[in-house]
Formats: sequence, C-alpha cells, structure tokens
Amino acid sequence: MSHRAACHCGAVTVTVADGVPLAIVNICHCQACQRRTGSPFGSIVWVPDATATVAGTTRSYTRPTDEGRHFTSHFCVTCGSNIAFTAEKNPGFTGIAAGAFADPSLTPPRTSVWEESRHPWVAVPEGAARFPKGRV
Ligand SMILES: [Zn+2]
Ligand SMILES: [Zn+2]
Repeated sequence: MSHRAACHCGAVTVTVADGVPLAIVNICHCQACQRRTGSPFGSIVWVPDATATVAGTTRSYTRPTDEGRHFTSHFCVTCGSNIAFTAEKNPGFTGIAAGAFADPSLTPPRTSVWEESRHPWVAVPEGAARFPKGRV
C-alpha cells in the first residue's frame, strides 16, 4: 500500500511508492526546526527520491546548516505547510514531514538530535539514540 502525505490545505501531496518503509523517523530539537515547524521539534521521514512523488505547487527556502551544508524546505504556496525537504547531507533522498502523513502508526523515532535545545518536557521514546547536537 502506498503512503500519502498532505499539507494542511491538501493542495500539495507526497506519495511514497508501495512497500517503502517509513521507518527512518528522527526527531530534531534544533532551533531551526522549532522555527520551521512552529512546534517544539521537527520530525522528517527520508525515502529514496525515486520512491516519492511530490504533486502540487511549492516554493522553497534554503538555509545553511551548522556543518556548512544546505537544507531546503519545500512548502505549499497556499497554506505554507512545510511538507518536503532536500538536504546535502542526504543526497538521493527526499524528506517528508512526518506529521503530514497524519498516521499514528509510523515507526517511532530511532534518534533524537540537538537535545541541548530540547524543551525539557518533551519526552524521547525509550531506546532512541540521543545526541546533544546533530548526528554526524
Ligand atoms: Zn497547502
Ligand atoms: Zn533540526
């Protein structure tokens, strides 16, 4: 069964091909993710580019990362939801906002990064690897 993520208004969707696991979910507590999402942390599922189809009109915003690379957010021009991502750190992969699947059965995050800026009340799932800064 394919999985489908959608922005707030539904104009932009990302469809992931049949059988592609959506298991690579990490949570990032960095301040850029907090501002990008308006939430205390960000969570992105990364899948191979060839398995993800983005439909709808997006614009993008690129920022430098602490490692000197670039991270690009693609967002819906109508509702502004961040829905897809590309990162020099993850060549060949498309990131999809975990929340855009609106699917509580997604695999829990295996890593938690930038914990030094984590809101102290945000609990990290048991067993997740934890890093004070980004995972290199
Ligand atoms: Zn939208
Ligand atoms: Zn982050």
